[in-house]
Formats: sequence, structure tokens, C-alpha cells
Amino acid sequence: MWTAKALTLFPEMFPGPLGESLAGKALKEGIWSLDAVDIRRFAKDRHGTVDDAPFGGGAGMVLKPDILSAAIEAVAVPGMSKLLMSPRGAPFSQVRGRELAAGPGVLLVCGRFEGVDERVIEAHALEEVSVGDFVLSGGEIAAMAVMDCCVRLLPGVMGAAQSASEESFEDGLLEYPHYTRPATWAGPDGIERRVPDVLVSGHHGKVAAWRMSQREEITRRRRPDLWERRRTAKVNEEK
Ligand code: SAH
Repeated sequence: MWTAKALTLFPEMFPGPLGESLAGKALKEGIWSLDAVDIRRFAKDRHGTVDDAPFGGGAGMVLKPDILSAAIEAVAVPGMSKLLMSPRGAPFSQVRGRELAAGPGVLLVCGRFEGVDERVIEAHALEEVSVGDFVLSGGEIAAMAVMDCCVRLLPGVMGAAQSASEESFEDGLLEYPHYTRPATWAGPDGIERRVPDVLVSGHHGKVAAWRMSQREEITRRRRPDLWERRRTAKVNEEK
């Protein structure tokens, strides 16, 4: 069973949103398991101290290396990837999510305060992962994002109808626009909007071609970085 272990000061935050919908159903079915472990359990004094002031001064507190390391050692399973949620980490991606989903599971260290003592990152070779260029108050929400991405890729979690193959990022393109009934709809602005004719044409080939051209157009306009990467990859393929 694919296993996610979270090291956190707030274990009661889990499973949180991961207890609902696709991920929640898979959790109940035993497709994956989730273990949220309180870092405070590994504190050595009766106050349950887990953090201390930074050497060199400055604001905030830092998670102590001895406590956090003991927690990692107690919880890590051999072969499992060990991730530290961190705004300075490598941007998390669909590609990395697929790799992690193919493995035995992940250990996710959730930082709090200013972060964690650098030596723990080094000693445990933690992979620093960021969920975006913004700062959260703790790693828990980031860890949940990583788990959610991995879990929906596990065999048996998504139905065939929700096959991931055409989704955003799977082939370096963003998704095409979706429409459902009614075919004509007047919004709050009073304007009647019809779904594109091609989608009601019943012509599968034309639908597929339209969707692909939409994906390309949207990617080119919104994410020139993805578009450029795809173009470079194609050029290399042709070589
Ligand atoms: N002092 C740090 C921010 C600490 S935020 C800095 O300037 O970079 C507290 C914790 O929240 C971090 O240790 C990390 O675990 C988590 N966190 C905050 N933003 C994140 C992000 N974008 N991605 C992943 N984790 C994040």
C-alpha cells in the first residue's frame, strides 16, 4: 500500500481535505495510508520543546535538529522518499508526483516558524520541495497538496473516465476549455453564450483537433515557459 507519513506539529490537521472525495475514498478503501506523526512526541524535556532561537540572531524560531532527526528516524521507512516542504525547494511538478506515486510512499516533513535546522536537511538528504513562490505559515497545506497529487495517480483512484493522460502538464500543455449543458446560457451580464459548434458536431476527429489547438493556444499565451520547453523538447526529439 502506498504510504504517506507527515511529520508535523499539528497532526490533527490530517487527513483534513484528503479525507473527502477521490483521496478520501481511496484512503477508506486502503489504496493508500496516511500517518500524521506529532514531532512533539520526540521532545526531550517536560515542556515538549521542539524549537529554539536561531544562532546569529534574527526573528522567529527554528525546529531543533536533534528532535526533528529523532522523529525522521523513527518514522522513515527504507526506500521511501524524504521530502521537506520548503519555499526554497524545487518547484513540485506533475512529473515528480508521478515518480513519487510509482514508489512505496513519501515522508513529508512540515516546517513551522522560520523553518528547520539546516543540518537535518543535510544529514537526512531531505529533498526540499516548494508548492509555489509564496510563503505559507507551515508545511502542512503544502504536504497535503503533494499527497493529493500523488494519490490521484495511484492505480484504482481515478476512473478510466478521468484518465490523467489529457490533463494539464501531462504532456507539457495546459487543458482545453470544458462545457456542459445547457448548450446556450445567459450569464449575469445578459449575454447569451453558446458552446463552440464543433463540440456538438458529433465529429470526434474535429473535436480532438479543436481541443488540441485550444491547448496549444492557451499554453502559448498563458505559460510561455511551458510552451518554450515543449518546443525545445520537440526539436531535440527530431534530432
Ligand atoms: N523563513 C522561511 C519561511 C518559513 S514558512 C523563508 O523565508 O523561506 C514555515 C514553513 O512553511 C516552512 O518551513 C515550510 O515547511 C512551509 N512552507 C511555507 N511556504 C511554502 C511553500 N511555498 N512550499 C512548501 N512549503 C512551504
